[in-house]
Amino acid sequence: MKVLVINAGSSSLKYQLIDVDNGDVIAKGLCERIGIDGSMLTYKPTGGDKHEFKQDMKDHTDAIRMVLDALVDPAIGVVKSMDEIDAVGHRIVHGGEKFAKSALITDELIETVKELSTLAPLHNPANLMGIDACRAIMPNTPMVAVFDTAFHQTMPAEAFLYGLPYEAYTELMVRRYGFHGTSHLYVSGRAIAKLDKPVEETRVITCHLGNGSSIAAVKGGKCIDTSMGLTPLEGVPMGTRCGDMDPAIVTYLMDKLNLDRKGVDTYMNKKSGVLGISGVSSDFRDLGEAAAQGNERAQLALNTFAYKVKKYIGAYAAALGGVDAIVFTAGVGENDRNIREAIAGELGYLGVELDREYNQNCPRGEEVEISTKESRVKVFVIPTDEEMVIARDTAALAAK
Ligand code: ADP
Repeated sequence: MKVLVINAGSSSLKYQLIDVDNGDVIAKGLCERIGIDGSMLTYKPTGGDKHEFKQDMKDHTDAIRMVLDALVDPAIGVVKSMDEIDAVGHRIVHGGEKFAKSALITDELIETVKELSTLAPLHNPANLMGIDACRAIMPNTPMVAVFDTAFHQTMPAEAFLYGLPYEAYTELMVRRYGFHGTSHLYVSGRAIAKLDKPVEETRVITCHLGNGSSIAAVKGGKCIDTSMGLTPLEGVPMGTRCGDMDPAIVTYLMDKLNLDRKGVDTYMNKKSGVLGISGVSSDFRDLGEAAAQGNERAQLALNTFAYKVKKYIGAYAAALGGVDAIVFTAGVGENDRNIREAIAGELGYLGVELDREYNQNCPRGEEVEISTKESRVKVFVIPTDEEMVIARDTAALAAK
């Protein structure tokens, strides 16, 4: 079965065509600057050359149309007609408490996702634009929604509740939801398969460290806690997001800097994190280079990030009652060897023994074990593959 996976943002749209039967990515690419001057489609069939098409895309429907045109193009395409695309899987950021699993897209589902936009005002409306565009062009193709929050719905109340009046939860939907669920699901599943233990007994901590970062505690294959909260702002400091802090800081900053709601939101979401601490960049490559050249604030940003991740690992080891494996994934987790060392090199008390040399020299883009043979807790680097999870869920639901 061939599944088109769509990850629609407000002005961008990533896509992959996946053959679910053999796990092959047939083609993939990206539409950028949708609705803005200078829109561009990149398209790369597996094993072929990458193509760039600069053409106006006034909305997501234009973008999807261009993607489909490239996929069926007689010269560079990978399918003969649109009919060969059996189903479309859409990534949706917020599924609230309504969706603990992926679901077939219906009018009712779309209404619910719209209602949940209050919890994810930047993401859900953009995701819906992707759905609307596909439904308009491919009205007879089954479509599935895969939610970033779904994997975390197994969290117990003591993990998802905040210390606020209970009515904030029951009446206003204020609780921890967690994000990056598809990634945590995928990498924890891969790690569990490598452990010599029945699934029910496994305790895994997954560290999705990218531009946005979150940590999850996974017991017996189910999420029991995660660092992101009502929104993706909570947890460790990220590229530009502040992560955990005293909530009183919000009103303090509003007073001192004369910020309104939007102003303080921008301050915490766009100007904070490792960018805010370093004053250099949100990108860990830039920070590593600056730190190597003696930039103390860049080093401080990296140290702060590693310290907070380490603290979460300790907290989740407590929540899990021990830990069998720690997984690093996403842009930073998969690539930044020094950050991995700064985190996993200091967890000896937990029974983690990092193979420092191998961590520095292991191949990129592969699943590797960076702990020593003797280490009681295994440490893995596992490249995440959210698209594959979306494609598989989509195929399974569309087949019904
Ligand atoms: P997201 O999906 O959240 O946008 P990614 O998981 O793609 O982010 O991670 C992007 C981040 O990964 C970049 O901002 C950069 O900091 C980091 N990164 C990518 N490659 C490297 C590298 N070779 N060394 C260090 N950091 C890297």
